[in-house]
Amino acid sequence: MIKILLKESRDDLRTLLGKRELRRGLLTGSFNFGFCPICETKTVFIIRKDWLRDFYHCARCGSIPRWRALVYVLQTYFPNWRELRMHESSPGGASSEKLKRECQKYVASHFFSDVAPGRMKDGFRCENLEQQTFADAEFDLVVTQDVFEHILNPGQAFSEIARTLKPGAAHVFTVPWYYWKPTLVRAVEENGAIQHLENPDYHGNPIDPNGSLVVTEWGRDFCDFIYKHSGMTTTVVRIQDKYRGIQAEFIEVFISRKPVEKDAPIKNESADMETG
Ligand SMILES: [Zn+2]
Repeated sequence: MIKILLKESRDDLRTLLGKRELRRGLLTGSFNFGFCPICETKTVFIIRKDWLRDFYHCARCGSIPRWRALVYVLQTYFPNWRELRMHESSPGGASSEKLKRECQKYVASHFFSDVAPGRMKDGFRCENLEQQTFADAEFDLVVTQDVFEHILNPGQAFSEIARTLKPGAAHVFTVPWYYWKPTLVRAVEENGAIQHLENPDYHGNPIDPNGSLVVTEWGRDFCDFIYKHSGMTTTVVRIQDKYRGIQAEFIEVFISRKPVEKDAPIKNESADMETG
């Protein structure tokens, strides 16, 4: 360990050792050395609790596994992502900060109920993912991180994302995926009101202290659902890479591609597809 840390500058070393998390990780022995895709430097990954998805942190940037997985997938499948025109909906965390910092044509949006769609607030463009004001074929990449479990009309949101993507461009995203069971819809919108079909479950939301309601637990039919509503075909990437700190429950990264004209789906064929 000392050998690796000594390779870093003295300031870096002091910063690392000054972090409470690192001290705790070293004391409990639940850590490993590696290379963080977000800081892009050697680091220590610390396991704070058994639920790695939220408690397996990079000692330098504080990132969690799904953020590192998303950035690693971008680096691997879209190595020129920094030059691409990118829209991220509902950003939050070290991965979003990196995209904002390093991608010159990055635009981030949140939905604010008090702002007209298309207008800016606090550096974010106000956009309803289900009804966006962006032009057709405006983006090379659309990114969402743990957003699609909260969308009330996800079919419409996937369709809108496909509309704003250039042919051949991709939606790269994370979402908790229960691939071993059918999709479970936990809540629906009826006449503008939310009707709960299951006990309400909320996740943290960077712009709402009340959190975000979990609407859908996506199951094995998820990729068919995306195809049916957007014509996009989806590749699921599951990485197990301790060296990059990518190891956790629900670690999948999805890449949905908008077809280029010649292999666009035939309309009736997609309409006939049913989801379980
Ligand atoms: Zn890091």
